[in-house]
Amino acid sequence: MNFQDQIEILKKQLNAKILAHNYIDLEVQQYADMIGDSLFLSRQAAKAENPVLVFCGVKFMAETAAVLAADKTVLIPEKTAYCTMAQMVGVDEVKTLKNKYPQAAVVCYVNSSLEVKAVSDVVCTSANAVEIVSKLEQHQIIFVPDQNLGAYVQYKLPQKEIILPSGFCYVHHEISDEDLIRLKEKYPEAEIIAHPECPLDTLKIADKVGSTSQMAKFVEQSDRSQFIICTEQGMLNKMSVDFPRKSIIVPLVPRYCYGMKKITVESLYNSLNLLRYKVDVDPELAGRARKAINRMLELS
Ligand code: SF4
Repeated sequence: MNFQDQIEILKKQLNAKILAHNYIDLEVQQYADMIGDSLFLSRQAAKAENPVLVFCGVKFMAETAAVLAADKTVLIPEKTAYCTMAQMVGVDEVKTLKNKYPQAAVVCYVNSSLEVKAVSDVVCTSANAVEIVSKLEQHQIIFVPDQNLGAYVQYKLPQKEIILPSGFCYVHHEISDEDLIRLKEKYPEAEIIAHPECPLDTLKIADKVGSTSQMAKFVEQSDRSQFIICTEQGMLNKMSVDFPRKSIIVPLVPRYCYGMKKITVESLYNSLNLLRYKVDVDPELAGRARKAINRMLELS
């Protein structure tokens, strides 16, 4: 029996739901019940009725699912599937900033540790960061951990004062405006669509900025046929399959998230077969993080 059949059988036996992020390899995505960005997958985890959720993504995503679906067994196929940005800003740095700016609200991007979420007022995703910050009454906002997304929020909301940390996503941070200008000369008709984890100078010359799911919607609804897509390669692969009549152009060099690439068909099979790796979250920490996540779900 091949992996495909075995995965389908195990899924049925466990009554498991498989959630996969847009960056996950297509070979793995084919087994997923739900594919999307962090916000979409968080909502799906919160309302899932299956006793077992298998999260094909990086650790912070599986942790968020475990917080929102506390009565479920949440599995991640590879326990070392980390988001490097989520590890760049820790609780101590947030506490230092809170002491320095006592009036500020703490907004944490979902790409963060559970500990950081637990000391934040509200969580946001790349799909709703501007909306969430705009709805807060505080003028000063400590925005962690992504300096690029924070700078984009500041650009869109000049009336706010955004205090920026030092974190960044290595996948998006290197996508430069110079590269895009060169590509645009080569493909003058192409629409530039960028993820807000790219540097602000890059975002300023993009035609559209959005989360991975928003990017897919932009392509679907556009009457253009060529798109320069500034994000992780898995998303470009997915778009090429989903929109075969549209031409998806890579910005200079393909960019890979190595945490996401650790999730393979074999690790998914092992996860279902051996019920590994169970995502355990400290109940007290999860309770505080849940408040910040639920506030996001209420505000967006
Ligand atoms: S693409 Fe960047 S921000 Fe997203 S999971 Fe990978 S390292 Fe983290």
